[in-house]
Amino acid sequence: MKDLLVMKFGGTSVGSAERMRTAATLSAAQKRKRPVVIVVSAMSGVTDLLIETTKHAEGGDDAGRKSNLRKLEERHVQACEELLPAAKRKPVLGGIRELVGEFDRITHGMLMLEDRPPRSVDEAIAIGERLSALIIAAYLNAQGTKAEAVNAAEVIVTDAVFGSASPLMEQTTARARKLIAPLIRAGVLPVVTGFNGATADGRPTTLGRGGSDFSASILAAALGARELWIWTDVDGIMTADPRLVPEARVLEEVTYREAAELAYNGAKVLHPRTLAPLVERRIPVWSKNSFAPEKPGTKIVSRIRSSNGARAVTSLGKVAMVSLEPAQATLNGTHVMARALGALARANVEVLSLSSSSYRQSFCFLVRSEEKERAVEAMESALALELAHGYLRPIDVDEQVGLLAVVGEGMQGTPGLAGRIFTAISRERINIIAIAQGSSELTIAIVVRREGLEAAVRAVHAECAMGK
Ligand code: ASP
Ligand code: MG
Repeated sequence: MKDLLVMKFGGTSVGSAERMRTAATLSAAQKRKRPVVIVVSAMSGVTDLLIETTKHAEGGDDAGRKSNLRKLEERHVQACEELLPAAKRKPVLGGIRELVGEFDRITHGMLMLEDRPPRSVDEAIAIGERLSALIIAAYLNAQGTKAEAVNAAEVIVTDAVFGSASPLMEQTTARARKLIAPLIRAGVLPVVTGFNGATADGRPTTLGRGGSDFSASILAAALGARELWIWTDVDGIMTADPRLVPEARVLEEVTYREAAELAYNGAKVLHPRTLAPLVERRIPVWSKNSFAPEKPGTKIVSRIRSSNGARAVTSLGKVAMVSLEPAQATLNGTHVMARALGALARANVEVLSLSSSSYRQSFCFLVRSEEKERAVEAMESALALELAHGYLRPIDVDEQVGLLAVVGEGMQGTPGLAGRIFTAISRERINIIAIAQGSSELTIAIVVRREGLEAAVRAVHAECAMGK
């Protein structure tokens, strides 16, 4: 599919009837020029609502569960009524009721069990995307663009890591060729659900919160698309979060590696795993604003012409620094590190940055706050003996920290840059707690006291003249 354009619309880009209308108009306009597949998120806030409902069910709160079911139905019925003429509503309203009924059944099961098994959660929360795909496809058809809603559980084949599944590309490619390519050839616009997939034997999975971007890139790679456009509610990838740095500006072009580092370190424009399927095939990605579609957005490509120094700075405030320190010099620090990391990997905890410096091989690393407890439990059980016998000091957790990441391909081999960045931060009297720079020199990760995080971001942005 040489000319194929895959477009993804995020939650705010399909968050109301009006937004869905815009998404459909943008899709139909492109489809007049070339084959198009669109991937849609759930309406904004719906995934949160669905997750909350599963928690009500688990906790035995049936009234809360039912009240959420009503909200879910009302929100989608309202969108349907605003978008479709009365004569065309019936099958869509029926479809909405069916999907809400499915969600009712799954969460009722959770209520009975007083449990939310991960696989049932995945099956349940994918219903948000199935609802929005249903409505958008119906609206496109009503407007004269042939479209069909596709449940990605039929197409995206994943492993069985519920809640954070990874695609199996070979099988996904085969399914995409079998199920989506024929629609495109028949002139139909497939409206594919973001976020979800299923194992090869059909158990429903999801790709992790915000995973619709990833769905879109998986499909773009599987179908050999020419481009992927990701529609969000910001103008593109910015030099910093504009809420922290008023001078922040949109970058015209960034590399896959820069975009991935930025996403990984807290920039909200792209799901961190999005770019991996595209790099090898060099499928360019555009990050665009569906609220201002005339703006060019940011293009993400393999290589860019000019790239000097540090280009963007991101930050993460909800992180915790975990430190491990041997109490006795006889303890082999490398073994401790290996076992600690092994335990974290098994517990599915993401290590955001890692540093070690002292000869005693103490080391510290950063995790997301919500994964902190899992991280500590996993390490305490893996290192129970060393802790019990006092070979290791008790694991220390510091939540009053924040991470800032300075990113740019051009930082490689630019002497003095790190020094300038540290000086800029210390000029604000902010204490630097830990530093990590990989040998690729693509990112410098800096851990500072939480209360200094925003000022540090501003200081780095100004020092590196990112706004110019
Ligand atoms: N609806 C899902 C979420 O909110 C996936 C997405 O929006 O990308 O996490
Ligand atoms: Mg979302």
